[in-house]
Amino acid sequence: MQKNRLKIAIQKSGRLSKESLELLKNLGIKVHIQEQNLVAFASNFNIDILRLRDDDIPALVFDGMVDLGIVGENVLKEHELERKALGLSADFELLKKLDFGYCRLSLALPNSFEYNGLKSFENLRIATSYPYILKDFMQKNNIPYKTCSLKGSVELAPKMNLADAICDLVSSGATLEANSLKEIESIFESKACLIKRKSSLSEENELLLEKLMLRIDGVMQARESKYIMLHSPKNKIDEIISLLPGVETPTILPLAHSDDKVVLHMVSKENLFWETMEKLKEVGASSILVLPIEKMLK
Ligand code: ATP
Ligand code: ZN
Repeated sequence: MQKNRLKIAIQKSGRLSKESLELLKNLGIKVHIQEQNLVAFASNFNIDILRLRDDDIPALVFDGMVDLGIVGENVLKEHELERKALGLSADFELLKKLDFGYCRLSLALPNSFEYNGLKSFENLRIATSYPYILKDFMQKNNIPYKTCSLKGSVELAPKMNLADAICDLVSSGATLEANSLKEIESIFESKACLIKRKSSLSEENELLLEKLMLRIDGVMQARESKYIMLHSPKNKIDEIISLLPGVETPTILPLAHSDDKVVLHMVSKENLFWETMEKLKEVGASSILVLPIEKMLK
């Protein structure tokens, strides 16, 4: 591994791996991943990709061992609070909140528990893999409690009589339901984020990063946006545009063999839902097409 190459750490295998790699690919970084190799070298940029357990990524960025990392905000926050509690530094720069890895850290109780507000957690034993985020929340809310620190299978703790409640990551809630638990309160909302070490990069890498950041904005904007094409009666153009969220100036084109209709082409910063399409149709729009956008550069 050469010293002057930009090093980015991503999760090796787990919920963030596929989308992290896909993001790098969408940025135009060409990299060939071999499952057994923990380091992959981009062939068209001075970038090395380190594939690690997500829990190892924050500390490597805090210590400046890697330049960039893609990690869940939950893992980042937990490690930041842990380092601070130990009197160690936890410096980093948040470059971008990304658009994947959504989840929340929630308090949950057995279905049979009669819940009467947060005070119900007083003196309960709460199993979690996020003891520092939990502690931070409970302290802010002035609730004394006991912990049961588990690295995995947190949702089984109440059944195993290891704890009365849990504080665990939730996305759909299916795991909670399968274990007869009810979600009570989300204490931390999370998504994947791109972080950078605090110490400065070489001039060359700083320039490379600037370029990548512009591309990230382009990729994320494109993912959120849609290209919309439709036919509109000439006298309904304003009404139709007012129904479309996030549309700036549409292009108006003539429609062959039609005197009373035109074609509108536009980029919408938001997705177009069926309900809106149905309303457009009611107003007189037809041939409505919604297309994904791959890249955008403004
Ligand atoms: P590793 O082997 O890298 O330590 P892990 O088992 O700790 O992996 P994963 O389950 O792959 O981690 O989750 C990685 C991250 O994905 C989480 O920290 C969180 O930010 C995000 N995530 C998104 N949805 C969920 C979910 N439903 N449950 C858990 N994590 C989720
Ligand atoms: Zn992990």
